[in-house]
Amino acid sequence: MRTRPWTTIVLALLLGAAAAAAADFEAVFEDATLRVDTYHGGDAASERITIDRVLRQGPWAGSRTLLVDPFPSGGYLVEARDAATGELLFSQGFDSYFGEYRTTGPAAAGVARTYHESVLLPFPRRAIDLRFTARRRDGSRLLLAESRIEPAAAAAEPPARGAVVVEAQVVAPPARALDIAILGEGYTSAELDAFRGDLRRAADALLGFEPFAAHRERINVRGVLLPSAESGCDEPSRGIFRDTALGLTFDSLGSERYLLTEDNRRLRDIAANVPYDALVIMVNHERYGGGGIYGLYCSFTARSPWADYLLLHELGHSFAGLADEYYSSEVAYNDFYPRGREPEEPNITALLDPGGLKWRDLVTQGASLPTPWEKEAYDARDGTYQAERRRLTQEIAEATRSGAPPEHLRALADEEDALAAAHSRWTAEFLGAGTAAGVVGAFEGAGYSSEGLYRPQTDCLMFSRRAQPYCAVCRRAVEAMLLRHVR
Ligand SMILES: [Zn+2]
Repeated sequence: MRTRPWTTIVLALLLGAAAAAAADFEAVFEDATLRVDTYHGGDAASERITIDRVLRQGPWAGSRTLLVDPFPSGGYLVEARDAATGELLFSQGFDSYFGEYRTTGPAAAGVARTYHESVLLPFPRRAIDLRFTARRRDGSRLLLAESRIEPAAAAAEPPARGAVVVEAQVVAPPARALDIAILGEGYTSAELDAFRGDLRRAADALLGFEPFAAHRERINVRGVLLPSAESGCDEPSRGIFRDTALGLTFDSLGSERYLLTEDNRRLRDIAANVPYDALVIMVNHERYGGGGIYGLYCSFTARSPWADYLLLHELGHSFAGLADEYYSSEVAYNDFYPRGREPEEPNITALLDPGGLKWRDLVTQGASLPTPWEKEAYDARDGTYQAERRRLTQEIAEATRSGAPPEHLRALADEEDALAAAHSRWTAEFLGAGTAAGVVGAFEGAGYSSEGLYRPQTDCLMFSRRAQPYCAVCRRAVEAMLLRHVR
């Protein structure tokens, strides 16, 4: 079992990183980005990666001193070795759309699918051997692809044309900053001002939120908009389809609020207009929706009353590899986190070895592990809310498909928001007044499971729906990731 202690990682980031000289980087890499496009396909039982094409793009935005990934996050790992010496030059863990697909029912039933994906590396001066492996939850690794890359073979294709770049905040060179690119989706050319306004709000929310706020003088935020032919995005379960720049759609992987795009090539071509460490897709839509895949991107609906929460929660997934801390009282266990194995995400644990808990150094003195909380009372109220929410979701989908008048749809959407807001307020008050409020321990109920998985605090941005702070453990994980990007 591979659970590196987070204290060790953070200490290495704070103390050791600066020791590796920038000269080492320049001996091996150029200040450019190597983008390797791949096809990643298969089903639950088998998978394979093949190289599509290799591109040379703009300046390298990532770390120049921590080239080998210090984090255990991500179900996949890409490693680049010097082809002549075999020396490990670069590695990066990541998750992917295919990685999510392979956990679904159709994949388990043997339905194979293929997704387009990309990995970004600093541009090598000499030939490299690229190796992709899947990191299985039992700790084993599966080789998915091995390929020699000659730098001279990289195509210097320019980024997608017609995109508007808006600098929300640019304060440091890409090499020393966390570069966040916010791509606009579903904004027409007549909605450029709306995009600018939404970008400003999103950048302010992000830069005002800890731990980003503490490091804001080292964070660049750039907006990129390729105008769409139509506003919004696809909503298949409501029978709505729009022609948009990035192809975002609700109902991704069969989940109603899950907002993703399968058009990775287009996404990367548009994003290539700016240097980036993290991709955010901001969707011109009012409905509650979003998604976040570690190392890939996160998405959120900019016009939802929950926009700030969605952005920061989904960024927790895509940027720092955080797990969802919420669960449903109806699901005791789930296949996503098999029993008896420690999840690799920094903010949930199976608590198989309380003495070796990965956030042990943050645990409140005197707190027992697991830590008691008012779970039965929470579950009773939350269960009622979830049932009500499901009923309303279904009613809205049916009303939309049957062409109900806009005012009726508006009323249903308002009812849904009011229901969620009331539950959010109740949760905040209930947990805030609980015996374990503010305590760091191990609280049962996390990672979609009511039993057997534990979260660090009773409430967190990754647990309940509102723009509240990350818990102490999530905050540290996000900050550690941020520090890697600015070194
Ligand atoms: Zn948390």
